[in-house]
Amino acid sequence: MASDSTARLILKPGKEKSLNRRHPWVFSGAIARVEGNPGSGETVRISSHGGEFLAQAAFSPQSQIRARVWSWVQGDTIDAGFIADTVRRSAARRGTAGATRLIHGEADGLPGIVADRYHDTAVVQLLSAGAEYWRDTLADALAAIHGIARVYERSDADVRALEGLEPRTGALRGTAPPHSIIIGEGAVQFGLSVASGHKTGFYLDQSVSRARLGADAAGRDVLNCFCYTGGFSIAALKGGAKSTLSIDSSGPALALARDNVRLNGLDETRAEWQEADVFKALRELRDQGRTFDLIVLDPPKFAPTPATVERAARAYKDINLLGFKLLRPGGKLYTFSCSGGVSADLFQKIVAGAASDAEVEARIEARLSAAPDHPVLLNFPEGDYLKGLVLQRC
Ligand code: SAH
Repeated sequence: MASDSTARLILKPGKEKSLNRRHPWVFSGAIARVEGNPGSGETVRISSHGGEFLAQAAFSPQSQIRARVWSWVQGDTIDAGFIADTVRRSAARRGTAGATRLIHGEADGLPGIVADRYHDTAVVQLLSAGAEYWRDTLADALAAIHGIARVYERSDADVRALEGLEPRTGALRGTAPPHSIIIGEGAVQFGLSVASGHKTGFYLDQSVSRARLGADAAGRDVLNCFCYTGGFSIAALKGGAKSTLSIDSSGPALALARDNVRLNGLDETRAEWQEADVFKALRELRDQGRTFDLIVLDPPKFAPTPATVERAARAYKDINLLGFKLLRPGGKLYTFSCSGGVSADLFQKIVAGAASDAEVEARIEARLSAAPDHPVLLNFPEGDYLKGLVLQRC
């Protein structure tokens, strides 16, 4: 499949600056005109107003992000070979871990494409028009990775709508995945469902932070908010936590979390699970006078768009304030934000405001980010979505 590389996007004067810094997105407002008639996902050449070549990119006619860069090289041919080669190189950077992110979008030169590996199963999310255009090539390239037996699609994220794409899920290559896949993470095992779990089935981005919490947990009473399938709780129990209280609003996630306790041969009496809204549950715990040595706050993306940052900031402040109130002196708060629109700086300010309203002093023990299989491009700070703070109450 050869793409139409004759179409061109000509930028407005001065709008070449971000591409010159190798930021891989072109916003609709930067474009002076489109030459040719590129279809959704087809490759376009991007030029400055003066006609200078800047990049080759996938065209997204319906999205505010109108083009995403495949290559900065004029002589590259964006064809199946190019895409497959980029997938191969991305996978080769990951080493041999059984569970790992294989493709992390822009940071791997594959904007709009995410793929996770769970042993012989690759789960892919095609989230942009360009990704959709190369669906078959991407599926073949993933299936060709050593040890991959099947490729399953989970293109059901909301962002597809912004690209004018319908949600799509199902087997792309090979047989349907087993109902449950078991992966290892350090000394811990997790069961996950690629068909019905969140995203691709599991939050691989928190692997390093889960291990850190596990190492902190011996003899501790742990509160894990937004626990999903129990990631931080299982790590804590394995690390010798005295007790865990884990809260999530999803019943199916909690059922898997309970299975994960048994899978790891852990003492079920030490693990309490609560199906509840964290905002309400934290208030109830405060009213009951409960306190903890370790508290994890790993909420979903509160700010999916720039317009929602302010409301998100209030939500982050609320849970962090309550978290500080439930934290024993000397105890630690592991607090996270996965909202791309909330910078690390802003997040720290919000959390500092929460501490001061809770009349608590704390020191920053560590700043956390996504695990190394989720790389960040230096010139694409938007990719640095996950930030965490480990705070020790004075
Ligand atoms: N820490 C987890 C990932 C958390 S994902 C891990 O390591 O795997 C965020 C979780 O928040 C999801 O499981 C979702 O069901 C849950 N959630 C979203 N809003 C919630 C709310 N208001 N109250 C409780 N849980 C919520």
